[in-house]
Amino acid sequence: MNTSPHPDTNFAAGGSAPDSMAPDTGKPGFGIYLHWPFCAAKCPYCDFNSHVRHAGIDQQAYVSAFQQEIAAMRLLSGPQVVTSIFFGGGTPSLMSPDTVGAILDAVRAAWVVPEGIEITLEANPSSVEAGRFRGYRQAGVNRVSMGVQALNDADLKRLGRLHDRAEALKAIGLARDIFPRMSFDLIYARPDQTADAWASELEEAISLAADHLSLYQLTIEEGTPFYGLHKAGKLIVPDGELSAELYELTRQVCERHGLPAYEVSNHARPGAESRHNLTYWRYGDYAGIGPGAHGRLSTKAGKIATATERTPEQWLKLVAENGHGMIETSELSATEQADELLLMGLRLREGIDLKRWRALSGRDLDRDRTDFLIHHGMIEQMGTDRIRCTPAGMLVLDAVVADLAI
Ligand code: SF4
Repeated sequence: MNTSPHPDTNFAAGGSAPDSMAPDTGKPGFGIYLHWPFCAAKCPYCDFNSHVRHAGIDQQAYVSAFQQEIAAMRLLSGPQVVTSIFFGGGTPSLMSPDTVGAILDAVRAAWVVPEGIEITLEANPSSVEAGRFRGYRQAGVNRVSMGVQALNDADLKRLGRLHDRAEALKAIGLARDIFPRMSFDLIYARPDQTADAWASELEEAISLAADHLSLYQLTIEEGTPFYGLHKAGKLIVPDGELSAELYELTRQVCERHGLPAYEVSNHARPGAESRHNLTYWRYGDYAGIGPGAHGRLSTKAGKIATATERTPEQWLKLVAENGHGMIETSELSATEQADELLLMGLRLREGIDLKRWRALSGRDLDRDRTDFLIHHGMIEQMGTDRIRCTPAGMLVLDAVVADLAI
């Protein structure tokens, strides 16, 4: 492993994004997001659109519904060249490789899918799911993103995960052997976690990772079991100060090992960034297919936001009735688009292109506000036409965006 810091990893020093990261050309691509909404069990911190169905799932029924919704989405998007495909969830590794293959075939029939584009599947590292990895590779998946979440059994248990450390290590090894690219997620700022414990766990994760890691802070979301426990004082998580320390530690350790943060929570060797997620953050277009998926499509009528029905069975019913499960297709005003560009783009280390923002909003950012945020070290200018958040600004990203968007 190359442990020398990348020459362009000094965040505070300004300058442009690393040369080897695909440059922001203003053409952020066209991604396909496919949502598989089922999980084997519900994790106590999770507020994603994920459902447990102990009676089993008729995968063939979902395949036909995906095929129909893909065709409907193609009508909305018009002909496009796909730049990435992403199976997210829920737990897409509960799909059989045949299901994945059939859905990929439907995507290829609807749009142009060039050979070799990034095709990612989110997977959980249980032994059963890892047993399907070769099948996914044969179906065309070339990148997995695994929900490892912790590298010790006590925390995995506390997070309600169904795998243990030994299974996670085995799945990571298998993924490295089978897929050209792989990433895994860890959650930090966990109950009782100290900075020292996280630093050594992170060092181990980096030694296991290929070239990409997603490192998320545990957040307590309303409506989850963790929310109730936290409110009742039975779940103590790191306070704001320790969370900020852990965030900074994460950034520094990853950078030292050549995996700088290219987004708030995502770290990669330059060139190994997730192309699909870059399309979101660079505010490109993406078709969101499957229960509870969201999309952004540029149509003749302008850029539209799409959303589909969240409950899987209700989504199936809607698709049977209408040929799709979309419950929202709304046109985005220029201001909404400019706000979204800001919200997504400031997550990135490369920041945003102000020319593009001006073209959308029809105005300049408020000079007094930008000067104020620059003065307080929250954002920084990169040349004349780019700004980005500093690491300090990333910690209060929502407030920075709210301040600039006005
Ligand atoms: S496996 Fe992922 S999507 Fe499913 S419940 Fe757990 S955190 Fe949520």
